[in-house]
Amino acid sequence: MKKEVSIIGAGIGGLSAAIELQHSGYDVTIFEKNHQVGGKMNRLEVDGFKFDMGPTIVMMPDIYKKPFIDTGVNPDDYFTMERIDPFMDVKINDKQYVLSSDLVAITQQFENADGIDMLGFLNYLSDIYGKYLNAKDNFIYQSYRSFKDFFNVKTLINSFKLKTFSSSFNDMKKFIPNQELQYLLSFQTLYIGISPFSGPSIYNIIPMIELLYGIWYIKGGMYEYALALKKRFEELGGRIQLDSEVTRIETRNRTATGITIDGVSFPADAVVVNADFPYAVENLIPQNNQKTYPKKRVNQKLKYSMSCLLLYLGTDQKYPNLNLHTIKMASDFENNVNEIENGKLPKDASYYIYNPSLIDDSFAPQDSSSLYLLVPFANLQSKQWSEAEYYQYADKIIAKFQKDFAIEDFQNHIQVKKIFTPNNFASLYNSKFGTAFGLKPTLLQSNYFRPHNKFKDLNNLYFAGASTHPGAGVPIVITSGELAANELKKDFKLNE
Ligand SMILES: Cc1cc2nc3c(=O)[nH]c(=O)nc-3n(C[C@H](O)[C@H](O)[C@H](O)COP(=O)(O)OP(=O)(O)OC[C@H]3O[C@@H](n4cnc5c(N)ncnc54)[C@H](O)[C@@H]3O)c2cc1C
Repeated sequence: MKKEVSIIGAGIGGLSAAIELQHSGYDVTIFEKNHQVGGKMNRLEVDGFKFDMGPTIVMMPDIYKKPFIDTGVNPDDYFTMERIDPFMDVKINDKQYVLSSDLVAITQQFENADGIDMLGFLNYLSDIYGKYLNAKDNFIYQSYRSFKDFFNVKTLINSFKLKTFSSSFNDMKKFIPNQELQYLLSFQTLYIGISPFSGPSIYNIIPMIELLYGIWYIKGGMYEYALALKKRFEELGGRIQLDSEVTRIETRNRTATGITIDGVSFPADAVVVNADFPYAVENLIPQNNQKTYPKKRVNQKLKYSMSCLLLYLGTDQKYPNLNLHTIKMASDFENNVNEIENGKLPKDASYYIYNPSLIDDSFAPQDSSSLYLLVPFANLQSKQWSEAEYYQYADKIIAKFQKDFAIEDFQNHIQVKKIFTPNNFASLYNSKFGTAFGLKPTLLQSNYFRPHNKFKDLNNLYFAGASTHPGAGVPIVITSGELAANELKKDFKLNE
């Protein structure tokens, strides 16, 4: 008999798990609270402008293709990817750096500072690439159930070899003397919501992946990928129920037995949760079933990643001098990151600009642009701001952007202005404390110590998504979905 699986949430983790399970012969239904799939990979459409609302940078393209290849179809029939090179401009003080994954361009850039910096860069790359191979083979694609899965001689030796005890910044700095080049290789840990000055050094794999595997673009914008996953899942026979907020995971004898929506029960053989882990253990699982993650631990002990303030701006101008991806770094980047981590309003903010209208006409009317500005921001754990304060701050960022990039009269060309705040992350996606990236990937919340894909305290309950193993970022969350599905398959053999 077919096994029925309910999945809570149609984010990337939920869709990835759903495709793998449906393809393997399970009968899968996804219940999603919002009116569309994709979770944070969302899209906003206003007055002829469209905006990718969340992720914009495609790294590790092979992982994006995996759910399609694994289920026997050609990813090119579902979405189109192209490589972007040079892939990003980074402005530090008045200097503009161009980031490329072309070795000739990289060599020129580092040698412009000093040959010693290039030598240091090559040594850094070989060091971090070795750690990446170790992490990929032994940790990222490995899920954990029991103590012995991690605390065994082989894994402990491999974990020691990662030498991940110093911060990303300190680990990289020892190879590269030039401070601006150090900055160029450090802001990338913010992609997963952790400071390079305090986060474990293994996250230097992020800039390494950018440089070695390139940055890609999905034609029509990132949301096309969420639509592609949805299409594949439905083709396989899976069902998606939108506008369906799950209020409770039903349990009997320490086993998940289904879900409840508005008092109506939907029985299932197994449940996969894609909703944010800390939110789910606090709100969906009855507290008497909670040994490992009681309320107190969730609210006071777990560490949370940053959030961000997003500005979606439709303008009646084009910006040919603004690359697809641009970063403006604060002059004192370390202080800026510390301010965010300590719940303060950054005085001199770093921010990221996405300008898809440069290469894709589908985002805005003719001669117009759809711009996205992302400002890393404190989550709601230590302090909450009013919506008015967020809006005032957003106006400051617009003025700053106009000045930093010398775009004359920018403000008068804005036709559409929408702001997305940490409060919106909490209310729209049920992200605990309004984080953008889930649980912070500290050393004690990574690998074995991150919530497992199979839930420890209840049978037949599995987790996929940014707050669970292996962590945040689209390719990593796709992997999380696959790991959760594989854990479920170990427990439920279809011919039994
Ligand atoms: C602004 C921003 C920029 C980013 N940029 C990048 C980038 O450039 N590249 C990159 O690789 N990654 C990026 N990321 C990270 C990446 O987008 C996320 O890690 C990933 O999309 C998270 O997917 P998820 O499936 O874990 O969670 P979510 O996307 O949060 O999905 C969870 C789903 O569960 C639903 N849900 C919650 N509660 C319930 C309930 N009770 N009942 C039913 N449904 C429920 C939610 O509505 C949501 O649809 C970015 C993230 C943000 C926020």
